[in-house]
Amino acid sequence: MTNDLKLFTELVEFLISEEKNNPVATPIDTQLLYKTLDLELNDEPSIDANFKSTLKDIIKSTPKTASTSFFNQLFGGRINRAILGDLLAVMLNNSMYTYKVAGPQVGIEKTILHKICDIIGYPKTADGTFAPGGSMSNYMAVLMARDKYNPSARNEGITNKMILYTSEVSHYSIAKNASFIGVGRHQVRAIKTNDKGQMLAEDLDIQIIKDIEQGHQPFFVNATAGTTVLGAFDNVKSISNVCKKHDIWLHLDGAYCGSVIFSNQYKYLVNGIEHTDSFSVNAHKMLGTPLSCSIIVTQNKTHLYQSFANDAEYLYQTNDDDFNLGKTSLQCGRRNDALKLWTLWKSVGSNGLESIVDQQFNLAQIARNYISNHPDYTLYSYEDSISVCFNYKAIPANKLCTALYEDAQLMVGFGNFRGQEFVRMVTINTLLKEKDILNFFKTIEDFAISTDF
Ligand SMILES: *Cc1c(COP(=O)(O)O)cnc(C)c1O
Repeated sequence: MTNDLKLFTELVEFLISEEKNNPVATPIDTQLLYKTLDLELNDEPSIDANFKSTLKDIIKSTPKTASTSFFNQLFGGRINRAILGDLLAVMLNNSMYTYKVAGPQVGIEKTILHKICDIIGYPKTADGTFAPGGSMSNYMAVLMARDKYNPSARNEGITNKMILYTSEVSHYSIAKNASFIGVGRHQVRAIKTNDKGQMLAEDLDIQIIKDIEQGHQPFFVNATAGTTVLGAFDNVKSISNVCKKHDIWLHLDGAYCGSVIFSNQYKYLVNGIEHTDSFSVNAHKMLGTPLSCSIIVTQNKTHLYQSFANDAEYLYQTNDDDFNLGKTSLQCGRRNDALKLWTLWKSVGSNGLESIVDQQFNLAQIARNYISNHPDYTLYSYEDSISVCFNYKAIPANKLCTALYEDAQLMVGFGNFRGQEFVRMVTINTLLKEKDILNFFKTIEDFAISTDF
């Protein structure tokens, strides 16, 4: 172990120096991947020196998501106190299904879940669990809604047309999950949005009424806190009024920006959250923990048991069910995703989480100001979003982003809204400073001069 820990430290130091010196790894063409790196698995062991140099080669060409040039996705950066917790979780290697096997780690997970329930104003009956990502949190939400609406679905399957509603710009997992739960993708209604990408509550109401008149069964509405492209926040309050009127489960998908609940300045973006039936948030997005760290909570833990409990004598041999988390989770064996968030939260406090969230909005404002003050840019996104969407001159966004990547200049992606394609820069890496944001634009400008678009 000692030797491997030494090797680990050496490799981490190498990674950190690479991040500094080559913040964007030169991409390897997929056609050349197996020729460039020694990825082959052989009958004979690898000698230590080769093993180490192979690992360094792999580290060198792996994309650097913690570098100051990574703006590509809805995560990025590296927060040390969370890394510490995750490394410990790997060493401890518990499985979260029973108290017997996970011990105090169960208390760590439950502390986080209860604290989040408190913050969003859920009652004492509320509880939650950790899921393997935001898509799976959404999956758990829609399953609970299905089983609440139609308790026989668990055993008998589905015979009626049960209908889901979500905005036209919501995450694709909603459609996938409709197929997973046996309801079918065609039963997903894409509700129109306003020009800021927020779902129109009036259109939702009209569509629900139409479906009821046709004899269908509306049972689930998904609202989004931070849509994947524009970072828009649906109006939870007005959507919840529609859901209450028709007695329909309301889930708030906060995978991207649900962490605004920690910020006094920005929590108004999810006003009405206490009226939702379930809420999910990815700590690996705004809170910067390592992937993955996704939380789903619901108003009444009965729903978790109803959809996810299964008796298994070979597993549940001790303690009260409240501490045997396997009864409320999607998986059987389950990785400890709670510890990294707990070590972060414990060390910086709730106020520290608030600063993390606020800093991302500050960085986005700096970026929007820059864009607004430079006539060569066009801005497509709005205040109170950490997705900054823009175009530079008349350069097509996909061409610009791909060329920046291939030339190892910047990692940034593109998206579109209402047929308009644009660069989407995400200011989710809390470690960035104003100069990194300005450097981002300077890199684009210098690159555009030297490149033929
Ligand atoms: C990222 C995201 C998801 C999916 O989360 P994963 O952890 O990637 O599965 C779901 N919904 C929204 C709005 C997201 O931004």
